[in-house]
Parts: sequence; C-alpha cells; structure tokens
Amino acid sequence: MSDCLFCKIAAGEIPSKKVYEDDLCCAFYDIDPQAPTHFLVIPKEHIQSVSQVDGANQATVGHIFAVIARLSKELGLESYRVVSNIGDQAGQSVHHLHFHVLSGRDMTWPPG
Ligand code: 5GP
Ligand code: ZN
Repeated sequence: MSDCLFCKIAAGEIPSKKVYEDDLCCAFYDIDPQAPTHFLVIPKEHIQSVSQVDGANQATVGHIFAVIARLSKELGLESYRVVSNIGDQAGQSVHHLHFHVLSGRDMTWPPG
C-alpha cells in the first residue's frame, strides 16, 4: 500500500534499525521502545491486522512466529511478551499487521 508507513519501512524507503529480514517479513526496533528490548515483526505484504489473517496469508503469519522464536533465542531473551493490537480501541496506531516483541523488564497483567 503506497501510503503505509510499515510498507515503506519493509521496502527500505523509510530507514529503520533492522534486526532481521527475509522474503516474507522483517523485524526492526520500535522508534519509541516500551521495554529495554522492543522490536516489531511485520509481513512484507500489506495485511491490515490480525483481523485480516486468512487462508491466503496464514503461512506468512506462522512464519513470523517461527522468526520471533528464533530471533528471541539469538538475542538471548529468556522471557518476553508478544503483542498485536487490533483496531483503534486496542491501541493500533499503524494499520499494517505487526507483532511487538517486548523484553527486559517486569510486565504486569492485565495489560492496560
Ligand atoms: P501500534 O500502536 O500500532 O500497536 O504499534 C505501532 C508501533 O510502531 C508503535 O510502538 C510505534 O512506536 C512504532 N512506530 C511508529 N512509527 C515508527 C517508525 O517510523 N519507525 C519505527 N521503527 N517504529 C515506529
Ligand atoms: Zn502496509
């Protein structure tokens, strides 16, 4: 999508501090970290949110979770939280599917 911030980051048109990249997805550090380690993993394909995951893109989403598991091991994260906000009330500010990976501090439950 031409006016989507994360499509532009995935395409390298907007700079980011990339952690990982392959044909299907990329991971980069959040510009406003909410934990000592906070990166985002996104599909390169534009998907609006979890609400738009379907049979055609579910393999990409499964791949993203395998990438999260591998990256977290490589970064030595022993405990971490994976979050995806869906819709405005849940706090989604960028309407391109992304998974936050947060680690390095105590976390509370329920989330705010
Ligand atoms: P959401 O609020 O949609 O769940 O998460 C969007 C995230 O994207 C936020 O944590 C925000 O800090 C991050 N973000 C917004 N703009 C940029 C940017 O230009 N670069 C990077 N690296 N992160 C961004
Ligand atoms: Zn997009």
